[in-house]
Amino acid sequence: MMNTMNLNSQSDSASPGIIKPLDPEEFKRQGYMMIDFVADYIRNIGNYPVLSEVEPGYLREKLPASAPSGPESIESILKDVQEHIIPGITHWQSPNYYGYFPSSGSIAGFMGEILSTGFNVVGFNWVSSPAATELENVVMDWLGQELKLPKTFLFEGHGGGVLLGTTCEAILCTLVAAREEKLTQFGRDNIGKLVVYGSDQTHSALQKAAKVAGIDPRNFRLIKTKRSNSFALSPDSLLSTILLDVKNGLIPCFLCATVGTTAMATVDPVGPLCKVAKEYGIWVHVDAAYAGSACICPEFRYCIDGVEEANSFSLNAHKWFLTNLACCCLWVKDRKALTKSLSENPEFLRNKASQSKKVVDYKDWQIPLSRKFNALKLWLVLRSYGVENLRNFLRNHVQMAKTFEGLMRLDKRFEVVVPRKFSLVCFRISPTAIASGLCNGSEACYSGKLMNDDYRVNEINRELLDLVNSSGNAFMTHGEVEGAFVIRCAIGSTLTEEHHVIMAWRLVQENANLLLGKTNCTSI
Ligand SMILES: *Cc1c(COP(=O)(O)O)cnc(C)c1O
Repeated sequence: MMNTMNLNSQSDSASPGIIKPLDPEEFKRQGYMMIDFVADYIRNIGNYPVLSEVEPGYLREKLPASAPSGPESIESILKDVQEHIIPGITHWQSPNYYGYFPSSGSIAGFMGEILSTGFNVVGFNWVSSPAATELENVVMDWLGQELKLPKTFLFEGHGGGVLLGTTCEAILCTLVAAREEKLTQFGRDNIGKLVVYGSDQTHSALQKAAKVAGIDPRNFRLIKTKRSNSFALSPDSLLSTILLDVKNGLIPCFLCATVGTTAMATVDPVGPLCKVAKEYGIWVHVDAAYAGSACICPEFRYCIDGVEEANSFSLNAHKWFLTNLACCCLWVKDRKALTKSLSENPEFLRNKASQSKKVVDYKDWQIPLSRKFNALKLWLVLRSYGVENLRNFLRNHVQMAKTFEGLMRLDKRFEVVVPRKFSLVCFRISPTAIASGLCNGSEACYSGKLMNDDYRVNEINRELLDLVNSSGNAFMTHGEVEGAFVIRCAIGSTLTEEHHVIMAWRLVQENANLLLGKTNCTSI
């Protein structure tokens, strides 16, 4: 089987060294083998530690120092994948994966990827592959309709949707469009006056976009949120921040509102924020990277109420919509605003279709020129599962998060730090439990410094998370809420079922037993 010459050996070409990299028969042979490999990986995924246990630099030691000069067989390559690559994988598709926001892969997403890679077209403009552009137009309208986005965000209006790689790109592209509008209006010299707004819960993607877009760091506002307002961005705070900026001669430009923030899945009040922003001509982008998918369910749609007043909206289909990485869906209300800021028309790309202005050239909606035929993935997902099943898939995750939250509420040592949102539960061992656990409930420890020792509470929760993750049986990540270290259990992996979630809870509980039992006064 270890025929290192196999690409050539079965070819009828006599001359060694001339490869046939697209031989259909060999493609089938290797393709079936690869599918078998991935299927076995998925079947066995629960047996691997979710969080990779390798040390930094582990792989260089395992692999040769230079590339092979001759061909190697797929069999020997797959052997290395099994032995050296898989140990270095953190298994995002594991049913026991609860970190960050999970990525939900699916057979449909995978098949779409195969097709897209099989055609391997570079559909930067319509003529370079009409189906790539037109299918993207159709599926973006389809999904936009299911989200009940206003018609102005669809192609029948002045808007439309585009598939980008990531939310970072969506925010950058829309920020650049907003910047262009302001600079056209106020003059190019005023770039140093443009102000960008978000909250202290906004994803760091906004800060990165502002940097790339040349926004003066002094004009970047992360408005403070409060627990009393569920950590949502308050329209009043936004207004007072804007007023101060205007008073100082600055130009409000862009607001990123979030539906489902990264730390705790908070929902900013889109409608009221847009109302404030509109007064000052601010472009509002709604970042719904994770929670946007849930808005196809009528019971969650209210989370984006008021989106008709926003300028753009995006979600990551690779997060919670069964579409394998990478697939960010962005809709804009005014497609000209995007194309005005992002289009270039060099001679080599000129063609009749583009000049007719009857087609969409997606190169003008994104940063790169080249692009994948990603619409196939989303099309296959929508068709293979149907919208009603997709809704139920999302609801099931929310239900499992409720189960996890419910179990946790029965154990008084824990606190659910903010109420569960969607399928995200944020929790920690409570300061009270730590104070009593540390000193076996002795009175001395309830008074005095220990109970308020936030640092200690954080460290013990950090240790709990480390114990859970190093067990290999679950993987969660953390966030920060008002200085508190909070463990996040984000349910959304495709393979997760209720019994996995119950097991994850037991794992948390057992490790808390260990921690609270083992610590004592003298160790402080
Ligand atoms: C995940 C996430 C992002 C970043 O997404 P990328 O696609 O990796 O750029 C931005 N915002 C929110 C709210 C997210 O959850």
